[in-house]
Amino acid sequence: MLIIMRLDADRSDVERVKGKIKLLGYLPHEIPGEERLAIGITGNKGKVDPELFLTLPGVLEAIPVTKPFKLVSRDAHPAGTIVKVEGAGPLGGKELAVIAGPCSVESRQQIIEIAWMLKEMGIKFLRGGAYKPRTSPYSFQGYKADALEFLKEAKEVTGMRIVTEVKDTETLPIVAECADVLQVGARNMQNYSLLEAVGAQKKPVLLKRGFAATIEEFLMAAEYILYAGNLNVILCERGIRTFETSTRNTLDLNSIPIIRKLCHLPIIVDPSHGIGVWDGVSAMSMAAVAAGADGLIIEVHPDPSAALSDGYQSLKPSTFKALLERLEQLAPIMERTLTLSHAEVS
Ligand code: PEP
Ligand code: MN
Repeated sequence: MLIIMRLDADRSDVERVKGKIKLLGYLPHEIPGEERLAIGITGNKGKVDPELFLTLPGVLEAIPVTKPFKLVSRDAHPAGTIVKVEGAGPLGGKELAVIAGPCSVESRQQIIEIAWMLKEMGIKFLRGGAYKPRTSPYSFQGYKADALEFLKEAKEVTGMRIVTEVKDTETLPIVAECADVLQVGARNMQNYSLLEAVGAQKKPVLLKRGFAATIEEFLMAAEYILYAGNLNVILCERGIRTFETSTRNTLDLNSIPIIRKLCHLPIIVDPSHGIGVWDGVSAMSMAAVAAGADGLIIEVHPDPSAALSDGYQSLKPSTFKALLERLEQLAPIMERTLTLSHAEVS
């Protein structure tokens, strides 16, 4: 059940509703929006009687939620969540977010060099893995704590905001100290301890879809994070596993309109892992924006042939720049803006 408060409801009205929810033995969750405030109810086993709330001052509506996910459901926040990252502009809303950088942080020089190149193109979010959960234990596992230090330095000198993956709960404190946005990778989408832990802290979370996860499982994973108290979640479609073998994954762009209808969280697309070959990345980036994605996360490497991970799907800076020019043309057709400048977007 979602209790929707009237525009003129005041704090005491909200507290009264929350008090009643607790009295019934359930949990209240505030989901604020620009236009209204919703209070989600969880912990109920059966139906909650809407009449219990409709008579309280300040209550506009009581909406039963029929889906298994409640706090992420579009009903809770019809206008859509916009995640704000100070110094880098919003994720969600009209503005297209572009996150770019190498798969892995490989050296101090590599990450600072690419950070400057991307900054000059007007990009505000730098990606780069420090802790890499790899399919094989023999593959490069990331430079871990050293890589976090290089990312911090790249942020300090360029002002770019950092998106980096958190692999487990043990390293969450040090990764969160460096990251502006914490990435939870596809392999960890159903690591419930990690979801609870990133939900219990304040940094925004970029949650990638598991490669064998249905849309509903994906949304339930996001529900864990909101349930734990963190409303700043960005979803990321990165492709799923199918019978197709000529691409690394099958980029499920169907999920974009479906998730937009079901869920209020911003959704971005990772075309790099989605197709897995560099010369398909630009086409799938354009397709993602045309499908309604709120942004992109793209692997860009100063020298893809020398990359320690995912070089074959990484764009050279020049190819990425050409893609940005095409995205700038596409944005207005999709009623979006793409602000590629050093000016801060608010
Ligand atoms: C990555 O972003 O480099 C990555 C490992 O992605 P995913 O978790 O989607 O495989
Ligand atoms: Mn990668």
